[in-house]
Amino acid sequence: MTSNKKITRQAVSLFHRKIKEAERIAISGHINPDGDCVGACLGLCAYILDLDPKKKVDILLEPISEKFRFLAYADYIMQEKTEEEPYDLYFSLDCSDKERLGAFQELFEEARFTICVDHHISNQGFGDLRFIDADASSTCEILYDILEEKKISFDTAQCLYLGIVHDTGVFKHSNTTRKVMEIAGALIDKGVRPDFIIDETFYKKTYIQNQILGRALMESILLLDGRIIFSAIKKKDMDFYGIESGDLDGVIDQLRVTEGVECALFLYEKTEGQFKVSLRSNGKVDVRKIAEQFGGGGHVKAAGCTVEGNVRDIVNSISPLIDQQLEQGKDV
Ligand code: 5GP
Ligand code: MN
Repeated sequence: MTSNKKITRQAVSLFHRKIKEAERIAISGHINPDGDCVGACLGLCAYILDLDPKKKVDILLEPISEKFRFLAYADYIMQEKTEEEPYDLYFSLDCSDKERLGAFQELFEEARFTICVDHHISNQGFGDLRFIDADASSTCEILYDILEEKKISFDTAQCLYLGIVHDTGVFKHSNTTRKVMEIAGALIDKGVRPDFIIDETFYKKTYIQNQILGRALMESILLLDGRIIFSAIKKKDMDFYGIESGDLDGVIDQLRVTEGVECALFLYEKTEGQFKVSLRSNGKVDVRKIAEQFGGGGHVKAAGCTVEGNVRDIVNSISPLIDQQLEQGKDV
C-alpha cells in the first residue's frame, strides 16, 4: 500500500475484511471497457484468487478487446450472472456512476455489500464503501494503493500496469506523477515487461485498424482556424471494414496531436443516427463540461458522450461550446 490521503486505514482494512468474508464475489466495470477498466477488473480478480483459489469470482463485463485477452482470468469475463442469490460482495471499478455499469447495475444494487473504486471527478459517491480519488491517474493506481504490495502477484501486477499505461497515455498525460512512475517501477519489479504490455495493447494495430485510422485522419476537418479538429466514421463504413468500436482506439489521440489543435472530436455511429463522441483537450478546454451537457462525462482533458443526430448537427452543436471556452483563454 502506498500513501494516499484520500484513503483511510479503516476503509482499507474493511476492504480486505469484506473480501475475506465473502464467498461469492462479483466485479464489474464500465460499459465499453477500456484498458484501465479491464486492468482493474482482472487485476482485482487475480488478487482475490491468489489469496484464496476457492472463492467464487464472477467478472460481469461487456466483452473486451482481443488485445487484452492474454491477461490472466480474461476467460472469467461473462455477461450473465451464474448465481440466483445476490452476491455477497460486488465491486464497481472505474465507473463514475451506477448507470455506467450498464446491464449489471441491478445486480450491483442487489448485492449484500458494495465497494466502489474510481478516479472520475464526476463521481458523486455510491456503494457501501468508496475509494474515490480524482487525483489518481487511474482506477488501477487506487487499487495498487489499497492492495497489499507483497501479495501482488505477476498476474495482478501486469493488469495494474496495463491500466496505468492506458489512462496515462503511456506515461505522458498530466496525470503522470512521480507516484505513478514509482508504482510502475514496483510493478516492473514484479516481472511486468513494459515493452510487451505497451506494444501489444497500446500501439499494435491490425492492418484494418491502421486503414481505418488512415481514413479517419484523411477525412478529418479543421474548424475555428485549426483550433478544433473532427472526424467521423459512419456505421455503414464500420460494417464495410468489419470493425467494432475497439478498433477505433487511437484515432482520437492522433487527431489531438495535430499542430495548432486545442480540441479534438471523434465520432463513430453506434446505431443508426446515434453517435459516440470522444473529446480530447490540449489544455485550454474543459471537455468534461461539454460532454456533461450532452449527458456524458469523463475528465477535464478526455471525455465522451453519446448524441443523437447527424455528424454535421452534432459538430455544430459542440463547436460553439468549445469556441466559448477558447474565447475565455483560460487554462483548465
Ligand atoms: P473515450 O472518449 O475514450 O470513450 O472516453 C474518455 C473518458 O470519458 C473516459 O474516462 C470515459 O470513462 C469517459 N466517458 C466516455 N463516454 C462517456 C459517457 O457517455 N458518460 C460518462 N459519464 N463518461 C464517459
Ligand atoms: Mn480509468
